[in-house]
Amino acid sequence: MTYVLSHPEIRQAVVRLCADYPGEYWRALDREQAYPSAFVDALTREGYLAALVPESYGGSGLSLSAAAAILEEIHRSGGNAAACHAQMYTMGTVLRHGSDAQKQQYLPGIADGSLRLQAFGVTEPTSGTDTGAIRTNARLDGDNYVVNGQKIWTSRAEYSDLMVLLCRTTPRDQVARKTDGLSVLLVDMREVRGKSLTIRPIQTMMNHATCEVFFDDMIVPAANLIGEAGKGFRYILSGMNAERILIASECIGDAKWFIQTATAYANDRSVFGRPIGQNQGVQFPIAKAYAQMRAAELMLAEAIRLYEVGENPGEEANMAKMLAADASWAAAEACLQTHGGFGFAAEYDVERKFRETRLYQVAPISTNLILSYLSEHVLGLPRSY
Ligand SMILES: Cc1cc2nc3c(=O)[nH]c(=O)nc-3n(C[C@H](O)[C@H](O)[C@H](O)COP(=O)(O)OP(=O)(O)OC[C@H]3O[C@@H](n4cnc5c(N)ncnc54)[C@H](O)[C@@H]3O)c2cc1C
Repeated sequence: MTYVLSHPEIRQAVVRLCADYPGEYWRALDREQAYPSAFVDALTREGYLAALVPESYGGSGLSLSAAAAILEEIHRSGGNAAACHAQMYTMGTVLRHGSDAQKQQYLPGIADGSLRLQAFGVTEPTSGTDTGAIRTNARLDGDNYVVNGQKIWTSRAEYSDLMVLLCRTTPRDQVARKTDGLSVLLVDMREVRGKSLTIRPIQTMMNHATCEVFFDDMIVPAANLIGEAGKGFRYILSGMNAERILIASECIGDAKWFIQTATAYANDRSVFGRPIGQNQGVQFPIAKAYAQMRAAELMLAEAIRLYEVGENPGEEANMAKMLAADASWAAAEACLQTHGGFGFAAEYDVERKFRETRLYQVAPISTNLILSYLSEHVLGLPRSY
């Protein structure tokens, strides 16, 4: 099998680390819906979660392609980086738009792992994908914002010290566009949790540590406003290409795990006196998923290349995320089918990975919204919503 393999040394080191966290580890956590603290601590100790923090703030100062390689290898090894991937990239909002004082205050702690910034509060129950319709509002009162409202699907909130929060600071009827008047606050949850901030875990089909959060007159110092008030939507958008690329890398890792696992089983399992993999009906779905994965991987490589030369690869990053999510889902389906009944047995890890990779059709952006983006912004078709 031929793969695009950048950063071979980082990949080998991540694979070695992941070997200490085999299928049994992830299965036990999955049963309990528990957080992979030991795995996250190991990644933190080795500096992988600080990959994108510049060295001047104590981070590893690596490129996006290196971060993508780290996440891909975690997923290719059978693990799941969703518990901590946001510690890598949520800090980008502070790095790109925060003041010097904010960067000095927060980035070194994020780099050494003593501060967790891996909660990102954008989605609300009533707004869904329509971010301009969010209702959580922050009212300036002297030196503080007073925040009221609710977010949903705020992943890792229980395991995070800080949260990047998007809220409305100017009422909808006082701005020209609904995406104006939104601001980003960096919330220190340690000070308000259990008081004006309530965090409730949501049980989901996979182990994801996602939550709903409620703000009840929550005080956030005005000094924690990131950038300018009213421009928050733009700040959130500016991190999207990197996020799409990193999630696509996880999907490629999943697809490779499913393809390797399906191939090994198809060679090994004998029915009617020959390996099941000798049947074209078993081979072809795996081969097709492999072709899909390779095509997605090339698009991902192109998105990363453009990103790293300083372009704004919205088109390629979105296509890479969609194609990689489709490839991982096709590979998951082929792998489960190849395993027959055993695909449903937890000890094979196939059903767990199957549930985990299904998420990427919906989050962090659904496939439909990527197609809408391509239709409108790339093809010039009328905006559909
Ligand atoms: C496990 C998990 C973790 C998440 N983590 C986070 C997080 O950390 N922070 C955060 O802010 N959010 C998070 N999300 C939210 C995620 O980004 C949203 O679920 C996703 O963007 C879709 O929004 P929605 O669920 O409200 O669906 P809706 O917006 O209600 O959409 C429902 C369906 O309708 C389709 N649809 C909606 N509008 C259109 C349209 N105009 N054209 C075509 N189709 C349309 C969508 O594609 C989707 O399939 C998470 C979600 C999950 C499930």
